[in-house]
Amino acid sequence: MERGRTAYLLVMLILFVLGFLAFLAIAGYGDRLAPEWMSQVLEFQGWQISSGMLAWGAFGLGAVVFLLLLVRQLVRRFRGRRSSGQEVTEHDLELPGSQPISALPAFAESVAQVLGARSPSAPQLVNQLLRAGIALGASDIHLTPDREVARASLRVNGVLYELASIPAHLHPAVVSRIKVISELEIFVKNRPQDGRIQMNTTGFGARVSILPTNHGEKVVLRLASHDPARYDIDALGMTARVRDTLKAVLNRNQGLIVLTGPTGSGKTTTMYASLLHIHATRGDETNIVTLEDPIEFDFPAFSQTQIEASRGLTFAAGLRSLLRQDPDVILMGEIRDDESADIGMRAAMTGHLLLTTVHADNAAGVFPRLVQIGVDPVQLASATACVISQRLCRRLCPACRQEAPVSGAQRQQLALLGIPEPPAGPFYSTRGCEKCVGKGFDGRMALYELLVVSSTLRDLVAERAPSHRIHEQACQEGMRPLLLDGLAKARAGLVTLDEVLRVASA
Ligand SMILES: [Zn+2]
Repeated sequence: MERGRTAYLLVMLILFVLGFLAFLAIAGYGDRLAPEWMSQVLEFQGWQISSGMLAWGAFGLGAVVFLLLLVRQLVRRFRGRRSSGQEVTEHDLELPGSQPISALPAFAESVAQVLGARSPSAPQLVNQLLRAGIALGASDIHLTPDREVARASLRVNGVLYELASIPAHLHPAVVSRIKVISELEIFVKNRPQDGRIQMNTTGFGARVSILPTNHGEKVVLRLASHDPARYDIDALGMTARVRDTLKAVLNRNQGLIVLTGPTGSGKTTTMYASLLHIHATRGDETNIVTLEDPIEFDFPAFSQTQIEASRGLTFAAGLRSLLRQDPDVILMGEIRDDESADIGMRAAMTGHLLLTTVHADNAAGVFPRLVQIGVDPVQLASATACVISQRLCRRLCPACRQEAPVSGAQRQQLALLGIPEPPAGPFYSTRGCEKCVGKGFDGRMALYELLVVSSTLRDLVAERAPSHRIHEQACQEGMRPLLLDGLAKARAGLVTLDEVLRVASA
């Protein structure tokens, strides 16, 4: 048991005993139990009161108050445990539909209203924050305590927007409320905690992370939504050519599809969109299974398995078991070791379509990386259908973007990336307007590089050619490198040139 809670319960117990003694005193046993000074009789406006009775009475009053507090605390704990994360009901939240970021001020206003009440309610506040986060399609809700206030902000499409400043004295109550609905220890305040808010009825879920800082506990809620529009393969921002080629590959019965890109480059979104596309075109009779670490979104269309290495459920073990379940399409979160790579290659050559991710700098770099992990190059060459490399950019707000010339620094950076002369403009930059809450961005889009393995490329991979040779050959066959995809999108006014240079040089 937590030390704070033990002390709390001890105080409660002492007060309860005192209260019981007070009851005895008032009931007429006071003189025998009380010390001598307590048996003096005071006169007050014609009333005769024993000082002992007065003292015991005061103790009694204190005890009753604390008893009520104890009962309240116990009821809260009991309720917290029983409802385990279901306490935020649909009714409480009135889950709003997806709204544009320009609706942010309206949500800030409703949070301010809760804060403006005489005694602001923490549960209401948390509900308002969740409402705002869900409605605006936030990926995260942050509660960052500072000296005087705790800042509540939302990350929407990669941009952090401030929603409210919560007075520091309210912050602990808000954190406690979040702990209750995510089944965390309320009394633990000095170590990190991780939990989950799950509402099966609405499909809403959030991962909760709490970390002690010098100004109190910092909370981050990572929201997961089921909005199928987010996983529409036609809305990912692929050019028609990339999209149609990918769809053709997804139509195959077997082969390996590898995605690469840094963390947060939208690989998971592309994989889910691909699986949903397969499900939509082939129907329920296609057995789609996933092995994930962690399961980021829950889809009814596939069976998803969570990797738990501590219990022996590794990617390799999971894949071996999955293959006995007659799958057609498999998503394996990641290839990390030679064992899972080996089983994956064999699966991809024996009638299964396998989607996975590998860490590499570009599409061509995936092959040497997998060979380095221990995959046989000949096997790799015949198993791989295509490789996608991607990066995520913030999309320019179409309402306020403005034309901007290429700066000297940008010219230099382009030259370093192998483009001595930038393509003829115009390019665009941000300005900020009401629609984008002054940020200049609205949503995100990915830059893609899609390498489809031709027979020539297959030979190169099999003979362990270096990645630059594979890259050159792929470009000759029509692959548009990521940087050029970005430049085309920058010229079309979808993203800024700076954003392209930032993600493409990473
Ligand atoms: Zn704007």
